[in-house]
Amino acid sequence: MAAAEQAERERQAAAAADAVRQALACQDCGRGQAAGLCEACDHRRQTEALIGEAGLLAAAGSADLSDAGSIAAAVAGVRTAIGDSAAAAWREFLEITDVAALEADPQAAADAYGFTVFQAAQQAVGEYRADALAVLGRTQEAEAEARRAFRPSRGAPGSGTTRVARTPSPPRRRPPARRGNV
Ligand SMILES: [Zn+2]
Repeated sequence: MAAAEQAERERQAAAAADAVRQALACQDCGRGQAAGLCEACDHRRQTEALIGEAGLLAAAGSADLSDAGSIAAAVAGVRTAIGDSAAAAWREFLEITDVAALEADPQAAADAYGFTVFQAAQQAVGEYRADALAVLGRTQEAEAEARRAFRPSRGAPGSGTTRVARTPSPPRRRPPARRGNV
């Protein structure tokens, strides 16, 4: 019996603590009843992390990694590009949504906007990752080709005839290490 009472008191204490947690204002924007971080600010934070990740991937794919300015330019370019695509996505959203209802509920509008930007950033990360992998793949393929070119061909599987790359690669116009950032 005492054990059951104890369990019940613990359950009540946990519920009370959870209620307090739910009541906490957003630590970023001060919105009440936000469990410490509202949806819009949560997405804003995640978006910042995604922009940082996309910037690193873009720099890995295009910047001169020995030049901090080149890296910073690549990261800044990513931030601008994500901002542009988020703005376009938001315009599209406004076209299909009830703008009057959205304006009547600023918090819902802030949540929707935060989510739109977050989605744009997520998509950008996917694209920059694919680009970086493609660049890396081309670089490794070129290095492998260079190694094959310098190695006397003997006994390799399928050797004896002209070796053809399994996948055609587009012509490389990029110098190996650096590319000017516009
Ligand atoms: Zn907030």
